[in-house]
Amino acid sequence: MSIVQHLIHGELVTKGERTADVFNPSTGQAVRKVELASRATVQEAIDSAKAAFPAWRNTPPAKRAQVMFRFKQLLEQNEAKISQMISEEHGKTLEDAAGELKRGIENVEFACAAPEVLKGEYSRNVGPNIDAWSDFQPLGVVAGITPFNFPAMVPLWMYPLAIACGNAFILKPSERDPSSTLYIAQLLLEAGLPKGILNVVHGDKEAVDALIEAPEVKALSFVGSTPIAEYIYAEGTKRGKRVQALGGAKNHAVLMPDADLDNAVSALMGAAYGSCGERCMAISVAVCVGDQVADALIAKLEPQIKALKIGAGTSCGLDMGPLVTAAARDKVVGYIDDGVAAGAKLVVDGRGFRVAGNEDGYFVGGTLFDKVTPEMRIYKEEIFGPVLCVVRVNSLEQAMQLINDHEYGNGTCIFTRDGEAARLFCDEIEVGMVGVNVPLPVPVAYHSFGGWKRSLFGDLHAYGPDGVRFYTRRKAITQRWPQRASHEASQFAFPSL
Ligand code: NAD
Repeated sequence: MSIVQHLIHGELVTKGERTADVFNPSTGQAVRKVELASRATVQEAIDSAKAAFPAWRNTPPAKRAQVMFRFKQLLEQNEAKISQMISEEHGKTLEDAAGELKRGIENVEFACAAPEVLKGEYSRNVGPNIDAWSDFQPLGVVAGITPFNFPAMVPLWMYPLAIACGNAFILKPSERDPSSTLYIAQLLLEAGLPKGILNVVHGDKEAVDALIEAPEVKALSFVGSTPIAEYIYAEGTKRGKRVQALGGAKNHAVLMPDADLDNAVSALMGAAYGSCGERCMAISVAVCVGDQVADALIAKLEPQIKALKIGAGTSCGLDMGPLVTAAARDKVVGYIDDGVAAGAKLVVDGRGFRVAGNEDGYFVGGTLFDKVTPEMRIYKEEIFGPVLCVVRVNSLEQAMQLINDHEYGNGTCIFTRDGEAARLFCDEIEVGMVGVNVPLPVPVAYHSFGGWKRSLFGDLHAYGPDGVRFYTRRKAITQRWPQRASHEASQFAFPSL
């Protein structure tokens, strides 16, 4: 079986260390292995990045941007190949894989604006013959640790911008679907990136701990589950590192009585069941204001969920593929069992779903619960599967209270025609990303992405303007060129105008 290698100092390398199997979730078969880096291998990547950094830091931002322009072209040229690689190891449909790649390319486009975003700020004559400016300087060696669910897009949230800002980057992708991530990194080298500015090390906790503990690594970007995000934030900041750690989610959609129900149902179907529910912005709770809305919603959803086209991710024209691993499938089935035991009404049951010809794939069918209440585990916890829970409330205020009381605050949305309700919702909801009649309000690349509460640890959101701040340090310079012949008296009072 072939081995997914590390990319260190521009070379693909295998170290003969521990490995893990990488599966095709549609068939349940192991298709290759991935090496799991030891501390020594991670250190090799860090040493390479450290050596490459000074020259890259001094490379003009416009030249760094030119590499990103070429990278964007290569990504577009290889869209079909990359989508296939994503689908094979993740299980998402080809169209969905192409979608995540396109959203990742948006971040490369933003990184192409490096000369503009790094311009800094300048003030002439802040005092007599004194000029002042602020610079944005790179941090040095920075690292990113990414989840399985967006093997192309989430790494592209991080390293194009970090690198365009002048840093050297070490990426530790998810060990469950590493091939497309590695291939995309190779394309950046093909685009002209100097060796050592992007290194990819595969691995598990050992590799992540090595990155956290290395004094040369100045900043860590993490995206994954909340317990690991909390761990990385605590351990990284304890060592004086800059950390942004994006975690899990439970995203609610509020349906008001005046919502355009047919369109809301279409939106909910994609947002709840697209990518088999394995999106941190997936809608997993529909909060219906009034029983009439809930009854009408269930009546429309039920037949559509039963008609979902489910099959091997690598086929075309499907709605969803399998879950990523057997463990993920078993966990989701466990949650459905739990919801039934807790007394929620199971309207559509996705357990035991089989795809002819792919009997060993990790499939779960679309699942719908009604009459879910806030103390149930299926409401409180992130399921990360194709399970939508309907909660019934009597007013918008009750819906908002429910959302504000939840420990997660990644994304949410409201379906309504009432501008006053929408405005109140946007103002008062305790969630980082909000949609009005938009089910997946993932910000475009020139805004920034991030949740609130236990969905993000750190001060800055990912990519966009916050990403520039995260990957740079501000330096403020005050400069004076006094007249040659003038006498300078000492000044003991604090300098002021
Ligand atoms: P995960 O937390 O299991 O893994 C994420 C990364 O952490 C991987 O690279 C993994 O190798 C590493 N890791 C795993 N266990 C570790 C440990 N004990 N110590 C150190 N590192 C460890 O997450 P996942 O299952 O790959 O991804 C799904 C999760 O990610 C969901 O909770 C989802 O909501 C979340 N997610 C969040 C966002 C966001 O933007 N907030 C985006 C995508 C995914």
